[in-house]
Amino acid sequence: MDNCIFCKILRGEIPSTKLYEDENSMVILDISPAKKGHAILLAKEHAANLFELSDKSAEKILPVVKKVGQGIVKTLGCDGLNVLQNNGEASGQTVFHLHVHMIPRYKGDDVSIGWKPLSYEEGEMALMAENIKKNL
Ligand code: 5GP
Ligand code: ZN
Repeated sequence: MDNCIFCKILRGEIPSTKLYEDENSMVILDISPAKKGHAILLAKEHAANLFELSDKSAEKILPVVKKVGQGIVKTLGCDGLNVLQNNGEASGQTVFHLHVHMIPRYKGDDVSIGWKPLSYEEGEMALMAENIKKNL
């Protein structure tokens, strides 16, 4: 935690532009926004990703994302908002302290968050579901 940049922000050792704070989380403006107003919620508990976060902390996050996300949309008058949360380097995670992105979106904007849709072979989807369910 000593060298974690988000822990340093939470401790006030690195300055940030704060939008919201409670006992469980802090929401700040992202320093390199995809669009101006892009915010990130930082869990106060240091957890590298969602899977390491306690349920107690996890359950308190979505109401804050809802509240601050609505505030961003209302303020900017944007057309939409992506709520995005990366887990692992392969997913695009660069800071290994749980955070949730709130990205303002505008019709026809230049932000790219997307994928090329694939399709399943016959029976593959059901098998996929069965395999995942075994690990829940
Ligand atoms: P990730 O790629 O891990 O999902 O997102 C990390 C985010 O943290 C990036 O969007 C990046 O711009 C933001 N970020 C990294 N360092 C700082 C910082 O010192 N201050 C703020 N406000 N945002 C940061
Ligand atoms: Zn941390």
